[in-house]
Amino acid sequence: MAELSETESKTGKEILVGKSTAEITKLLTDCGQPAYRGQQVAGWIYRRGAVSFGDMTDLPLALRSELLEKFTLGLPELRHRDAAPDGTVKYLLAFPDGLTVESVYLPYQQRVSVCLSTQVGCPAGCTFCATGQGGFARNLTSAEIVGQLLFMQRESERRISHAVYMGMGEPLFNFENVVASLKVIGSEVGISLRNLTVSTVGVVPGIEALANSDLPVTLALSLHAPDDDLRQQLIPTGRKWNISEIMRACRYYTRQTRRNLTFEYLLIGGVNDSVEQARKLATLLNTWRLPGNVNLIPFNYVETTSGFKRPTPEAIKLFREELEKTGRVATQRMTRGNVIAAACGQLRRKAAEVQQFDIRLEPVGSPAAE
Ligand code: SAH
Ligand code: SF4
Repeated sequence: MAELSETESKTGKEILVGKSTAEITKLLTDCGQPAYRGQQVAGWIYRRGAVSFGDMTDLPLALRSELLEKFTLGLPELRHRDAAPDGTVKYLLAFPDGLTVESVYLPYQQRVSVCLSTQVGCPAGCTFCATGQGGFARNLTSAEIVGQLLFMQRESERRISHAVYMGMGEPLFNFENVVASLKVIGSEVGISLRNLTVSTVGVVPGIEALANSDLPVTLALSLHAPDDDLRQQLIPTGRKWNISEIMRACRYYTRQTRRNLTFEYLLIGGVNDSVEQARKLATLLNTWRLPGNVNLIPFNYVETTSGFKRPTPEAIKLFREELEKTGRVATQRMTRGNVIAAACGQLRRKAAEVQQFDIRLEPVGSPAAE
């Protein structure tokens, strides 16, 4: 499948979302406009929630039509939304080539977070993950990554303060577009880079490159097993980089950025949730002298992964206590939106099996973006 280029939509119009104020200004001055028009347009896109040039009410009408002829904002279109009573909303968003990804809006008392996808599908093929089991289509452009956030900001009355790159796809397999999107979200949308988290399955060259990129984002490592044998069964990509190589890269990351990591550990009943495995995990992290919390994620049922089941509450408790004995802080990803977020890939799967839609999942008729 041909990839959409970063700057051109299917219509041949140049996409503005994902570009910096300076780049937008250059495009507009090339059209004979004064520089402040570029700042106005960028302000509308990133901070004032425009979904079309028509929304940019302080631009002259003639300029709005000229912009419409030459450019497109390039925001994704809404295909479905699934709202939970606690305020969590999961969106299925479509790009011009018709491919879709999931994005999740997660409101908390003190902050509002969103979960972004970085690829359509994922080539890592993790056996427990709906996305990984569904194959891989293509990388998202940085415009498409930023577009998810802008879309959700537009839908929300509250300001988005945090973003986690934990949706569909492996961010570090799409390094350049991910880094470009982090920069735009930081400098244009105005979310602190410290409030952005990139989650990786352990792509060693990507971890090193991110460490060198001078972006103080948080790195979350999906570890899921304390030894290579088990890890490689769960994560086929694990065969490419073993745990020692990943730990070395993580240590490099903490030293370069002076930031702690988060370790994600998916608990699968009877597979990786024993007290002995908790002890091995603690020893591993302590031996490598890697600071950071362990985030325990109880396995969320995925249809295709026959044989996997959720851990019992008792097993979760014992695993957690064992980690804490070694001084490691272990948090548990609780139900509500986090489970929705953890199970990214499932909404898209549901959408593919139209007749099995969840009753709360309402098809949406008209696209919200231009
Ligand atoms: N590719 C990256 C980021 C996206 S996956 C990574 O793997 O880190 C985001 C998170 O969802 C990962 O921590 C993954 O372990 C978790 N996840 C995937 N399938 C899940 C399932 N069935 N139940 C619970 N969490 C799951
Ligand atoms: Fe890809 Fe992450 Fe799913 Fe593994 S868990 S298949 S890396 S999205």
